[in-house]
Amino acid sequence: MLQAPVLVLNASYEPINITPVRRAVVLVFKGVATTEEENGNFIHSTRMAIRVPSVIRLCEFRHIPRQTRALSRKNILLRDRYTCQFCGRVLPASELTLDHIIPRSRGGRTDWDNLVACCHACNNRKGDRLPEEAGLKLLRPPRPYTLHTSRQLMRMMGKSDERWRKYLFY
Ligand SMILES: [Zn+2]
Repeated sequence: MLQAPVLVLNASYEPINITPVRRAVVLVFKGVATTEEENGNFIHSTRMAIRVPSVIRLCEFRHIPRQTRALSRKNILLRDRYTCQFCGRVLPASELTLDHIIPRSRGGRTDWDNLVACCHACNNRKGDRLPEEAGLKLLRPPRPYTLHTSRQLMRMMGKSDERWRKYLFY
């Protein structure tokens, strides 16, 4: 339950992030954020019961740079919606790998625009080649991770939590 996702709003109510309950509770405790919505559960410590937040809001407005997300396997898979960018199959994370579009051996960088989610079959087929050399074609060029991308993800995740909706669907 401490890993459950909590929607983080800027002071302006703009959704900016998703964080686990554990971290959200710390932010509220420190006075950095306030709870906007609760999920109805409690965390019990020896002294008290803490209401578990579902949506929190930062007390001070935070300027969000255009690209805020760290480059990581998880974020690439999220951006690509767990879809192999060559054959279009949607797969669990364990069955996906990351492909360097331009292979590292040819100077391809480890970067948002050179990495895509890829299934093992396509990855084996591609090997150390460019997509066109392996007869593969990208579904679309890889997108940088912008706030727009992350809002789409928040919307996807927010479908399961109606407390998030009023902040996401506007
Ligand atoms: Zn594939």
